[in-house]
Amino acid sequence: MNYHVMTLFPEMIEGTLGHSITGRALEKGIIDLDCVNIRDYAQNKMKHVDDYIYGGGCGMLIQAEPVWLCYQDIIRKIGSKRPRVLYMSPQGRTFDQSMAQALSHNEDIIFLCGHYEGIDERAIELINPVHVSLGDYILTGGELPAIVMMDAITRLIPGALGSDDSAKYETFYEGLLECPQYTRPPVYEGLEVPEVLMSGNHKLIEQWRKEKALERTKERRPDLYKRYVSDIDLR
Ligand code: SAM
Repeated sequence: MNYHVMTLFPEMIEGTLGHSITGRALEKGIIDLDCVNIRDYAQNKMKHVDDYIYGGGCGMLIQAEPVWLCYQDIIRKIGSKRPRVLYMSPQGRTFDQSMAQALSHNEDIIFLCGHYEGIDERAIELINPVHVSLGDYILTGGELPAIVMMDAITRLIPGALGSDDSAKYETFYEGLLECPQYTRPPVYEGLEVPEVLMSGNHKLIEQWRKEKALERTKERRPDLYKRYVSDIDLR
């Protein structure tokens, strides 16, 4: 998987993805990260990329030209392959696990990160990306959403986690929340690990985990529970 990030703050992305699971995936070559600074494509001496907004209003907007030139350069580098292009935008579809799953099958993904008041609409029209949001709130830039999305996608690429089964038992994988989990010691502050988990009986452990996952989902995320139950009816 090759991630290409169009940003004004490449160091934010490189600094964060270089750690833990994404850091190891980079070392192993499971993912590749190419952060491209939109500012490098400014066609003026001062390397300005933003300007006032036509019609008035506060704040500045990233100009269309450096964004479009930066995008074309990435497309040239990628060659004949067709990348998926995502614009980090609060106006897009909200990112979720199913989107992460679908995106994990791509070979190249371009993340376009806005900043200031966003990007001149003409660059968006020319690039025609899919708009994706992290949630219904406004962030300072698209860098944090891009980092979150790359993290979630990377976990789903074979070889990125210690065991490829790890992702299968996580929350959302089957549409349910994960069951409660415990590690040593068996008793802590008077609280005991459920006996079944230490029984060595794999069938009973599986049953217990499923029951707890159902209970927890029903209690904490009735919306997910309802969908899970109605999906079972369709199977
Ligand atoms: N003026 C814009 C508006 O009202 O829709 C918000 C601009 S925001 C301060 C700057 C940039 O941060 C956006 O262009 C976008 O790339 C990114 N951004 C902000 N909130 C986001 C969110 N919830 N999801 C994805 N990207 C977001």
